[in-house]
Amino acid sequence: MKQPTLGNPQNTIEILQKYSFSFQKKFGQNFLIDTHVLDKIIASANITKDDMVLEIGPGIGTMTQYLACAAGKVVAVEIDKALIPILEDTLSAYDNVTVINEDVLKVDINQLAKEYNGGKPIKVVANLPYYITTPIIMGLYESHVPIESITVMVQKEVADRMQTGPGSKDYGALSLAVQYYAEPYIVANVPPNCFMPRPNVGSAVIRLISHKKPPVQVKDEQLMFKIIRASFNQRRKTLANGLNNSPEIQLPKEVIIGAIESLGKGASIRGEALTLEEFAKLSNTISEML
Ligand code: SAM
Repeated sequence: MKQPTLGNPQNTIEILQKYSFSFQKKFGQNFLIDTHVLDKIIASANITKDDMVLEIGPGIGTMTQYLACAAGKVVAVEIDKALIPILEDTLSAYDNVTVINEDVLKVDINQLAKEYNGGKPIKVVANLPYYITTPIIMGLYESHVPIESITVMVQKEVADRMQTGPGSKDYGALSLAVQYYAEPYIVANVPPNCFMPRPNVGSAVIRLISHKKPPVQVKDEQLMFKIIRASFNQRRKTLANGLNNSPEIQLPKEVIIGAIESLGKGASIRGEALTLEEFAKLSNTISEML
């Protein structure tokens, strides 16, 4: 298969000029122009010719070329219709790529996995548009798309939030949600000069390997996530007050305090001190009371 031609500043500028492309800030367009970073993403994503890869936001097709060389099949979803003729050009040498001109948040990814991978687990690899990182990741997990791993470039601060545990200022609902579904680790930190145009934040590649089975036993997943959201909505309040003030949890305060105390914690504890396992236990106790 043809070796990638994109991935450096010169070839990127050439393509952008050929098509008089103008960057759309609203779509979070920061294209990769560093072959070392691209090699690192591809190597860490652990792709083989048996894999179907979903790429979110192919841009001008830089990473798509690398993915096409490594994977059996690549399905790339791009919202910006101005990029479609460019992708037809830059991907013309690769017959295992399908480009879909859609908003990824509106695409039925389960259906794509069925159609292109017989419903088997897919790998997601992307340099994500930062303005919708959380909805993309949570959408994939909550709609129970069969996923083996997600390897994505995100804002550095968001990568830290996904990876951290109790006691850190970055710990929150995103950390707990990601860690319920997957094992996260940061592969590399990436500075702004690896992109065109340069983003005004630092970036990181994070890899999320899906758990074969959830690390905690939860009777009612939705209730656990309601409790988690309520605990972090009012960070400076105690867990008991956070839950008591939440419109999603209708229980008398004494009952909430009783459930917290059954964890062996005092009523003044804050949500940010609880582990995923403790949130699971709390949710199981509360679900018996509802
Ligand atoms: N993969 C390319 C690269 O690394 O050079 C481009 C990455 S750029 C950070 C994000 C890409 O996502 C852009 O091409 C942008 O147009 C696209 N995008 C933004 N919002 C999107 C959405 N809702 N659905 C699909 N693609 C989207």
